[in-house]
Amino acid sequence: MDYKRILQIKYLEKTYGRGKSSFTAIDEMSFDVLDSEFFAIMGTSGSGKTTLLNMLAGVTKATNGEIIFDGKDINSFSRKELENYRGNLVTYIFQDFKLIDNISSLENVLIPFKIHSKKWDMNKIYRLARRMDIFELLNKYPKDLSGGQKQKVAALRAIAIEPKIILADEPTGALDSKSSIDLLKILKDINKVENTTIIMVTHDSYAASFADRIMFIKDGKLINELMIGDNENQKDYYNRINKANK
Ligand code: ADP
Ligand code: MG
Repeated sequence: MDYKRILQIKYLEKTYGRGKSSFTAIDEMSFDVLDSEFFAIMGTSGSGKTTLLNMLAGVTKATNGEIIFDGKDINSFSRKELENYRGNLVTYIFQDFKLIDNISSLENVLIPFKIHSKKWDMNKIYRLARRMDIFELLNKYPKDLSGGQKQKVAALRAIAIEPKIILADEPTGALDSKSSIDLLKILKDINKVENTTIIMVTHDSYAASFADRIMFIKDGKLINELMIGDNENQKDYYNRINKANK
């Protein structure tokens, strides 16, 4: 693994609202994400996971603190830099897929390329789709797909543009266990083969056991961290995560 930092988060804070009714969802959080790592963020509902991910994605503005990408705080990006960061350098997989229903799966996958005026390599997209076992689905409409199939299409959309970082917010939350395992294996494969950094939010210990490192958060604060051991198998790692998660 490469120990270069891809993101440096410093004293990050997000407070919703003002005055008496204000609420601090992320409270002076500092951590690094390494280039090419599979990083998971765990925490119960309401702990601030989505707020944090949205700030990392550049879609929610931080109240205070820094998110340093490639030497520069994303909060000080120009409009152009931010456009390039969102959806090209950093892509997002959502729990509810967020596919457009009345265009084909392939057209969904091509949307980010069109938004960012980027050329696509159809052979590469076909190759990825075959590896993810969704080649036959490319001409189908999302409304005709199962949840697991939709999430694979959404994953292909996030992967195809070759981002530096893929953010995933409870990507297996709406899937059955077989589809969840399929998706987690796809993310792991992309992480290993393409060296794409993955930041995945989950409250599921099994999903987290696919990550190299796990950060636990509670009430918007970092409370614990776990890392897979050098020779540790996934089962033992899972048991440790499960224990830490209680
Ligand atoms: P998680 O994804 O871990 O469930 P969220 O980041 O969605 O947590 O929410 C963290 C906290 O911030 C929750 O208490 C939630 O109610 C609050 N929150 C989230 N979004 C907003 C918002 N737009 N306005 C006010 N409070 C919010
Ligand atoms: Mg959430």
